Amino acid sequence: MVYPVCVGCKSGIRHGQKFKVGEGFSKLFWSVRQLDRVNSNDYICQKCQLKFVHWTKETNDEFKNLIKNEQEREKSNLDGNVRGFVYCI
Ligand SMILES: [Zn+2]
Repeated sequence: MVYPVCVGCKSGIRHGQKFKVGEGFSKLFWSVRQLDRVNSNDYICQKCQLKFVHWTKETNDEFKNLIKNEQEREKSNLDGNVRGFVYCI
């Protein structure tokens, strides 16, 4: 049987739960750790998932807010563009 390989530690996940990388924050975390692109459908082992959870607690969601601010900034930029576009017509 072929076991899914954990993105974090590159070992086969034979025991415990496995988690999907998913979108957003978790994907960013693993991408930075690997200095590489990661796929949302890639797997994380239970041990590495705990590292991620621990890190989000240690940083007190500091970076989560950064991402949120960035998304809101993009959104407000988009609104500005739409308004600008309407203005041009
Ligand atoms: Zn792992």
